Amino acid sequence: MIEEARARFETLKAGGMLPSPQGVALAVLELTQRSDASIQSLTHLVQTDPAMSGRILRYANAVHGGSLRHIASLPHAIVFLGLFRVRQIALGFSLIDHYRSGTCTAFDYLGYWTASLATGITAQLVSAQAQCPPDESFTCGLLSGIGRLALATVFPTEYGGMMRESLSGLALRDAEIGSFGLDHASLSAELLQDWGLPEIFFQAVRYHELPTEAPFAPGSRAQTLTAALHFSAKVGSLLTLDEAQRWERVPSLYHAAAQIGLEDQHVPPLVENVVRQWQDWGRELHLPIRDFSDIELFLGTPPDPARDENLSALVLMPMRVALITQDAVQLRTLADTLDAMGLVVQMATERDSALRLLQEDRVDVMLVELPDSGDAAVQTLRDLRASEGGRQTYCIALIPPEAEPGVARLMLAGASDYLLLNYSEAALLARLNSAQRVVALQGAVRAERESVIRSSGDWARSNRRLLQEALTDPLTRLHNRRYGLDRFAQEWAFSVHSGTPLSCLMLDIDHFKLVNDRFGHEVGDHVLSQIARVIERGCRKDDVAFRFGGEEFCMVCPNTTLAAAVRLAERIVRDVRADRYGEADNLFPVTMSIGVANRSSVDADVEALVARADKALYAAKSGGRNRVQASRGEAG
Ligand code: GH3
Ligand code: MG
Ligand code: MG
Repeated sequence: MIEEARARFETLKAGGMLPSPQGVALAVLELTQRSDASIQSLTHLVQTDPAMSGRILRYANAVHGGSLRHIASLPHAIVFLGLFRVRQIALGFSLIDHYRSGTCTAFDYLGYWTASLATGITAQLVSAQAQCPPDESFTCGLLSGIGRLALATVFPTEYGGMMRESLSGLALRDAEIGSFGLDHASLSAELLQDWGLPEIFFQAVRYHELPTEAPFAPGSRAQTLTAALHFSAKVGSLLTLDEAQRWERVPSLYHAAAQIGLEDQHVPPLVENVVRQWQDWGRELHLPIRDFSDIELFLGTPPDPARDENLSALVLMPMRVALITQDAVQLRTLADTLDAMGLVVQMATERDSALRLLQEDRVDVMLVELPDSGDAAVQTLRDLRASEGGRQTYCIALIPPEAEPGVARLMLAGASDYLLLNYSEAALLARLNSAQRVVALQGAVRAERESVIRSSGDWARSNRRLLQEALTDPLTRLHNRRYGLDRFAQEWAFSVHSGTPLSCLMLDIDHFKLVNDRFGHEVGDHVLSQIARVIERGCRKDDVAFRFGGEEFCMVCPNTTLAAAVRLAERIVRDVRADRYGEADNLFPVTMSIGVANRSSVDADVEALVARADKALYAAKSGGRNRVQASRGEAG
């Protein structure tokens, strides 16, 4: 399947119509693919494009985040971001600039970028959950749907047809494969791969829309990144949907959040943060951004109930009805009729008591008597609708027959339905029946939604625990080998691209077999945990220590020279030696040996660096143990 998609992609690429970065961004892409690329040459190149310079500065400061010092110059921003990240940013922004419109009339180009931008920002904000650096998550989110833009660009007519049919999910995928030989998700993945993004990103992009189909191990970085992108894309589309569609999608947003360990109460503040940054970036990139003044409401309130003309059984449940009128006497008959129908009726004759009634008594239906459809009437409806209890209440406008021609204004102002004051009992029953069906439906939706959201909190916590368990060594509570090697690969890539040093320590307990032999395996286990705590204490902020296996540990030290790594290792050897191990009534000393190696041009990959550290460890053992040995293989 992936092979077929790849072959198809190569054909499309040869056609020359796929979206691609242009101008300075293209030059940046090419420059950063050369082995002699330097920060200076990149700075010169970016400076030729003032818009891009500004965005890179702005971006560096946004990622820089919490730190106090503002990044004021382009060269500083580029050094801060590094070649690799600058190229990703240039790529993203260039695509936005050059594909703001196109020939596929049914494809909403600006809407596409608006949603993509929100997806990118969300991905950046949940990067901790995705175990990814924030800037890479941003690019990955921003371009996660690029295959759709590509299909609209290459096949404007056919793709337009699919858009007009509003196909989505599996139906869209099948139609895409049928017509184009590959679906948009595969195409997104191929494009990202072609642009040189790391494998984990294009794999996550390939599966993020249908994450249950992803072949990744639970808890692996690929799986977590896929789930984080899935959630981010949901935020992206939610912010661009209209109110009615949005309401349906809210529960699934909470569901997706729970899958990355994000609890329900953290979702609204997160979305609020997304919206803030989205508005900033949207202005900068000239994209249409909506205004959301109250996110809690946006994520929580149902849309106005739709009108439902389809009458069925005319039996009424005991709903709570508020009669809002200026003239209580005139509506006495109506109140009596409603009462006789078994409804609970309350009356309010002025604005304030009406508002209080709505707020305090959980009214299901309000009947609002209005003299006409003029401005004052419209305002009354709006006020009632905007009030806390009135927002979700079914609202029937009671109007004199001569006001009927202006009823559209009243409906727009928030009436769900209307009834003429000379109503027949049948008409009244029919209206109330419609109201009842909507009220019942709304209640069911609200209850279901509340239960989904409530349980998503527990679920998020258990997911977070599972995720953590999957990446933690149960005996020592250190990171396990899977997590460690994954992080190692990530730090390796960053070190290679940024040209910063990277060191590796292999740590092994001396004569550990003797501990087991003398004191038993259980005490041996206890000693392993005790040693793990000593190693943990020795770690600096960016170091990553993990259990490599048995009584061996490994430590990855980003941005650390060989000399600094040796000093660190010597401190750990000293600390281990200084402690006493075992149980309180039987304490004994333990020592440890450490081999150290620093990434150099002789190392092809992580494995080569680990092998050199391991060789140095072996030398430390044969040199007498309880010591540090640096690898002699640093060829420069
Ligand atoms: P050296 O100084 O050469 O490293 O000697 P050593 O005895 O530490 O090395 P060796 O590799 O010969 O033996 C390692 C021992 O560690 C053997 C194994 O039973 C023990 N071991 C490995 N994993 C665990 C564990 O999880 N718990 C316990 N209690 N022992 C373990
Ligand atoms: Mg060993
Ligand atoms: Mg040992």
